Amino acid sequence: MRVTYQMSSMQDDIVLAGAIISHLEQADDLLILALSPKGLQQKMDLFYTYYGNNFLIINAIKLVIGYHGPPPLWNPKFYFNGVEVEIVDEYTYVGMGFRCGVFRVFSSVFQNYYTAKSKKGLTASHAVLHIESMIGTLPLLEGTILYMGCIDPQLIYGCEVALDTSEALLANLIAVQKSFFRRLLGLSKTAIVVATYTETGIIPLQFRRLELALRFLSYLLGHPASTYVRAALEESLILDSQGKKPWIGDLKNVIAKWCPDFSLPLTDALLNATDSTIMGNFKECCEKAMHAWIDSELTRVVSRTYILKLRKEPSTNGTCMSYKDMCAWSYISDIANVKHQKAFTKLITGDHPLAVVRLTWPDNHQTKIPHHDRLCCFCKTAVETPEHAMLQCMDNTLQIRRDEFFREFYALHTNAIRFTPEMDCIYYLAYLASTKVSFSILAKWIFDDLTIYDNVTVFVPEQYRHSVAPWI
Ligand SMILES: [Zn+2]
Repeated sequence: MRVTYQMSSMQDDIVLAGAIISHLEQADDLLILALSPKGLQQKMDLFYTYYGNNFLIINAIKLVIGYHGPPPLWNPKFYFNGVEVEIVDEYTYVGMGFRCGVFRVFSSVFQNYYTAKSKKGLTASHAVLHIESMIGTLPLLEGTILYMGCIDPQLIYGCEVALDTSEALLANLIAVQKSFFRRLLGLSKTAIVVATYTETGIIPLQFRRLELALRFLSYLLGHPASTYVRAALEESLILDSQGKKPWIGDLKNVIAKWCPDFSLPLTDALLNATDSTIMGNFKECCEKAMHAWIDSELTRVVSRTYILKLRKEPSTNGTCMSYKDMCAWSYISDIANVKHQKAFTKLITGDHPLAVVRLTWPDNHQTKIPHHDRLCCFCKTAVETPEHAMLQCMDNTLQIRRDEFFREFYALHTNAIRFTPEMDCIYYLAYLASTKVSFSILAKWIFDDLTIYDNVTVFVPEQYRHSVAPWI
């Protein structure tokens, strides 16, 4: 049996652009709205009577009262058939947590929503990654499918309503996405954030949530003026034009933050729109803004990303290469040995244990070491960078392993560009990392070289050691 609750209009109803909203219903989740304690009690009495007449029982224990705005001057009490209903500081409606009271910024109302959804996302993330204890390493492709099915729904839930005006709250959700993909890629907690996106092709959460919010606006514009959703949009637009801070104002702020080249049509145009065509191609604008953000992040941390900015994705047959800022790179699926693949990813994303990165980590036993003094632990003549370790260092062990790689590489790839010491080693390393035929043997070589370095204590020049430092 389906019972639809009809409530006659009252003075205390919410009015959105002329449409009276007495209460909200979503399946069995019902929210009664009123502008005063007296009006709310009247509505509760009507509600109780209506449901009683339809042979339904209301459980007062499961009901709560919340308020938005300043607290009432006196402490009202509310009853359902004589049973007092609790007044709470927060409540949940359709899975969204709302905080009650007065807040300086609207995003504070949703603070608990961000906390709850990030916790649920993290729980789902742990459940997915737990698979690794049963099957071994979870491949990136399958991991991404599971992410989109189990974790992403938690991270985007309600993003059309809760707009990300607070970066601090949004950071809780982004942290879940970031930690999941870092783990899939085998990257450490100190790895650069942008590598999470460049190596997987996954859309950064802030852009995904913004695009979904814009899609929601597009959906609202497709509804006639007689619908409640359209009335809510119109009310929001009217409030915005009056200098208030409604939903549409928050949406404009988020657009300005993440997609500055896109702007919403003027208020009058939105009010009179009969469909979403006036919004133009907002999806394309969001995509362009995302790529621009990826590019700016790659430049911001260029000391770690210089190889990422040069390497290219080979075509399926490996004959040509093209630059891509982010995608599901073929090297990840081509390299069968997981340890080798992860070493490859760590080297090109600057998450390796070589001195140029390791000596940037905080350490109580040494003062800050400038880039030019983060010297190779073997030759102590050059900075210990990936290109030095792989192509330049004259250490005997490293040279033997290097010769072995090139013999194998030239045999596999007869048309390969031959390495000479005069070449730009960064470009050549990026070339190797873009050459399909060498993915597996290059990954093994990187793994071996990083293991060789890992087994030797990092070199800290004398002048940077503290007197009590236990350096040997
Ligand atoms: Zn060296």
